[in-house]
Amino acid sequence: MLNAFTVDVEDYFQVGAFADRIPTSSWDDFEGRVVPNTRSVLDLLEKHQVRGTFFILGWTAQHYPELVRDIQRGGHEIGSHSHWHQLIYEMTPEEFADDLKLSCRIIEDITSEPVKMFRAPSFSVTGQSLWALDILAENGIEFDSSIFPVHHDRYGIPDAEPFPYRIENEQGGLWEFPPSVYRVANRMNLPVAGGGYFRLYPARLTIECIHRINRSGQPFMFYIHPWEVDPEQPRLPCGWRSRFRHYQNLGSTHRKLDRLLGEVSFGTMTDALQPSLEQSACTASSTKISAGS
Ligand SMILES: [Zn+2]
Repeated sequence: MLNAFTVDVEDYFQVGAFADRIPTSSWDDFEGRVVPNTRSVLDLLEKHQVRGTFFILGWTAQHYPELVRDIQRGGHEIGSHSHWHQLIYEMTPEEFADDLKLSCRIIEDITSEPVKMFRAPSFSVTGQSLWALDILAENGIEFDSSIFPVHHDRYGIPDAEPFPYRIENEQGGLWEFPPSVYRVANRMNLPVAGGGYFRLYPARLTIECIHRINRSGQPFMFYIHPWEVDPEQPRLPCGWRSRFRHYQNLGSTHRKLDRLLGEVSFGTMTDALQPSLEQSACTASSTKISAGS
């Protein structure tokens, strides 16, 4: 079974944890490190012959179009991670639609391919911003990975489906492939999908969770950010919680990723969704046949 390997392509100063202190208007003042960091992840994927899905910030694509071309040339999938990395539940539907369209236009101008995938900044499709799903479908997004089924102070719908599912709406619907969680004692969802959780837990715990989820017949959704393989990144002023979330174990992430890619089978988001898509097509055609008979 193939699991989804995804990368949210953004720089260390653009993350939600620093948004209060670093306005988007000052992004140009920072030393950009996203290109070498993303290349480091690309090199690891090449070493393990894995193709992944890269959700790229429109701003990043605009500033580094050659990086987008390199990702595309590597055979990876490309989606949008919005343009300005704003929390969706703090935007109006109109603001979100404008931001999404801007990011897609910039990426499509570089790749000459339609953007069909999206991941919200900080997984900010929550109970307050489910309207975003209509806007995504309206703008050609067919696959989303933004609804984290966990309790968290910034994101999450704790009782959302933990495995890929279809969302139908008036705009034609889309697939949701949630970041993975591991159900503990039938009581709570432990986030194990990647990012800070991957840096915090031993690699063997993540790998064991992936194998258990695969044994239950489901694919795993993994995510990482380029800045997470960069222990040399400049330290930014922030509170203790953000410091812990952003800087813990940066020095060991590259090594852990190397191990993960060696022990688990990964592909793009659509590769990992393939069994769900086929099953859904099968169910739809058998429904048609029984409706027709
Ligand atoms: Zn992000």
